[in-house]
Amino acid sequence: MAQVRADNNFNGVYWVIEDGQEKVATSNLAPGKKVYGERTVFLNGIEYRIWDPFRSKLAAAILNGLKFFPFKEGSRVLYLGASTGTTVSHVSDIVGAKGIVFAVEFSPRVANEFIDRCVKFRKNIVTIVEDARKPENYVGVFGKVDVVYCDIAQPDQTEIAIKNCRMFLRKDGVLMLVIKSRSIDVVKEPTKVFEEEEEKLRANGFEILQKIELAPFDKDHALIVSKKLF
Ligand code: SAM
Repeated sequence: MAQVRADNNFNGVYWVIEDGQEKVATSNLAPGKKVYGERTVFLNGIEYRIWDPFRSKLAAAILNGLKFFPFKEGSRVLYLGASTGTTVSHVSDIVGAKGIVFAVEFSPRVANEFIDRCVKFRKNIVTIVEDARKPENYVGVFGKVDVVYCDIAQPDQTEIAIKNCRMFLRKDGVLMLVIKSRSIDVVKEPTKVFEEEEEKLRANGFEILQKIELAPFDKDHALIVSKKLF
């Protein structure tokens, strides 16, 4: 018989215990609806969605020892690179009905799939079909956000993330930046690439809180968590 416990430190994150194994999960904001074929477990009247670390880099970071988790009920989030909504859907579960996720995706085809699978069933997501290089075009975003999450796998992703933070992230807000080292430089050592991107963040007024590598779930990827000091 499965059991569930809330994470001690991360608001909205749960651990489903089955056959002696703990699996990270969130409580489904759209009961009965799945987004990416994830497994669901019904316990004490609540439906939990098992969060797959091989499909979501945020889940991989949690399993690899993430210490700073800026999302909580009511958080306002700007999410760059929504894709078809795998990670966005779990963030949407966590911030709940009082929170909001502004989700940016530049491919209209991908954005349509995202809307069909995910946004249709959740009132706390605003889809923005735009290029993250041009945050001045986001008409849907209102006010400042608490968190910017960036996972766009582009060579200039750090610069793009910084530009978005300048416009939309509040002071002391958190930037979570996924770095795919091969998108930046295919030959350079990933550790060196991660260091160079961290340096760009520091030079632009961010304090690095943690760098967490995502192997074995995602090879040559890291998540850099930083705080906007200005
Ligand atoms: N974050 C997603 C998840 O965990 O479910 C996966 C994101 S996938 C690695 C990168 C996505 O970013 C793709 O869907 C791609 O179309 C989108 N993307 C890439 N460059 C972009 C840009 N400049 N503006 C907006 N979206 C972009």
